[in-house]
Amino acid sequence: MQERPLPRPGSPELSILPSEAHKLLYRYLYDRRDNPPTMREIRAFVAERLGEAPSQTDRRVRDLRDHFDVRTVLFGGEHRYKLMGWSQTKKDGSRRALSQRTRAQVLSPQRCAQCGHSPLGHGVVLVVDHKVPREWGGTDDIDNLQPLCEECNAGKKAFYATYDKYGDAIQAAAMHPEPHGRIGELLKAFRGDWVPSDLIGVVASMQQYQEDWQKRLRELRLLGWTISSRRSKDPGTGRVHAWYRVEIWKQWPPGSIRAEVARLDPSNKRKNRD
Ligand SMILES: [Zn+2]
Repeated sequence: MQERPLPRPGSPELSILPSEAHKLLYRYLYDRRDNPPTMREIRAFVAERLGEAPSQTDRRVRDLRDHFDVRTVLFGGEHRYKLMGWSQTKKDGSRRALSQRTRAQVLSPQRCAQCGHSPLGHGVVLVVDHKVPREWGGTDDIDNLQPLCEECNAGKKAFYATYDKYGDAIQAAAMHPEPHGRIGELLKAFRGDWVPSDLIGVVASMQQYQEDWQKRLRELRLLGWTISSRRSKDPGTGRVHAWYRVEIWKQWPPGSIRAEVARLDPSNKRKNRD
């Protein structure tokens, strides 16, 4: 795809932004592309220039994302906001629609991926669901799409809405190149809060599908992590939900996490002796 260059601050192209404050924020992120700021720095900058409340600043960053790809990146142990380019997923502030062909392909099993109900057998209506929501960096790739009935889709939306405050952290965790890293960063981002297993499953599978993310999670313990779990039954649906919480976490090894896990795995040592 041809990359459209970012407009320079002050360029007429930026008239798409709703206010002067947004343009000021754009200039700041543009100038700091090589050294992206943390949200604390962004808030301090805007507060100094405009005397604004932090909640206003957070909203303005979201507004910029209507047009630009402002990526949350993990850098030096902190979440930073990097202006990457024009937004790929949105045009003119509206979402790019999925093609008819993609929709047909996703819906072809004619069965809800969660409850298994079908339009013919149960009279449900199927919709295309993003496993990882677009707001959290989920793509329109076929791997990130699944058929859900309207009821399961509504339930999932409501469930995920309670985690919107972690949206940036989830997006940053999902960028980690290794599955152990994605799971670990997600647990850390919740700062000792319980993380639902559904969410760990989808974040673990970003970039490459993880059939056995539970095993990857257990392997973090080999690296010295302490992780608690609990289970509870949803009184409405009867479904059992599992939750995980990090109690103690460790720095990542300097090289590949997978290699370090293999080195520490006692079952590997046995195999090597045989
Ligand atoms: Zn369903």
